[in-house]
Amino acid sequence: MSDIDQYAVFGSPIKHSKSPRIHKLFAEQTNQALQYSAELVPAEQFEQRVKAFFAQGGRGLNCTVPLKELAWTYADQLTERAELSKAVNTLALQEDGSILGDNTDGIGLVTDLMDNHAIGLKQKKILILGAGGASRGIIGPLLDQQPQLITVANRTVAKAKILAQEFSHKGTINGCGYDELTGQSFDLILNATSASLSDELPPLAAGLLAEQGSCYDLAYANKATTFVRWAREQQAEKSLDGLGMLVEQAAEAFYLWRGVRPKTEELIQQLEAERGE
Ligand code: NDP
Repeated sequence: MSDIDQYAVFGSPIKHSKSPRIHKLFAEQTNQALQYSAELVPAEQFEQRVKAFFAQGGRGLNCTVPLKELAWTYADQLTERAELSKAVNTLALQEDGSILGDNTDGIGLVTDLMDNHAIGLKQKKILILGAGGASRGIIGPLLDQQPQLITVANRTVAKAKILAQEFSHKGTINGCGYDELTGQSFDLILNATSASLSDELPPLAAGLLAEQGSCYDLAYANKATTFVRWAREQQAEKSLDGLGMLVEQAAEAFYLWRGVRPKTEELIQQLEAERGE
């Protein structure tokens, strides 16, 4: 391997990942010499490919769908937020040769909501749609901001209930099915399902969004996602997608690896401008 520090994102599919571009721009901005590539790694090859990457001098990895749970199992040590979320999106080589696993998705979301979009979370009623890996990553950092409550709604109701149970020591959180939401309203609705990826929408009752409430789709696309379109129909104060979260979680991973925090504002603006809406 070359003398330049090597980083990569592993996942499947991976072709459309924006992470190599984001980390290249972070490296230029902070004068760090590193290379960052995107590699197609299916789950069955995960362990062997990670071992080979670090054995050949790799310094850090991002892991995306479908590898986050495997990365959680692989890491020698876990940060507290990764431990709780049972999913790892960032692996970092430590000085003693061990591998640290972190989850920067949640802090990426919270930073985008609070710092970039001035959406306060304290004492707010938050609804999370979906109970998969992304929900696991965001619940802890959201509860740290002391919302009034978090409700997790999921198609497979048992998964929402289990998730709520796992995080119940950190704040008021409950799990339910979509039909149980009727009559309730929330200040912030987060779509953490993968429904947007297939242009679908979870079954959402009218009146779910409180007046002046906002909506955020963790998924992102070049045009408005199905959920963002729904949010606009509900006259949400803000109808956002997950591009900012993507950049912010990358910045947090970059900080873990390099000890330097890149600036994100201009890069988010640049990526926003490139997607034609
Ligand atoms: P998972 O596969 O782990 O979970 C998918 C979730 O979506 C499950 O709760 C599933 O419900 C639900 N779901 C899927 N299709 C539908 C549907 N048609 N109607 C209702 N619910 C549905 O995915 P992840 O949690 O890893 O990812 C979720 C989303 O978050 C993806 O769009 C991903 O791109 C995005 N994401 C964005 C990030 C960013 O940086 N912006 C970071 C991480 C994720 P069930 O349990 O019933 O199957």
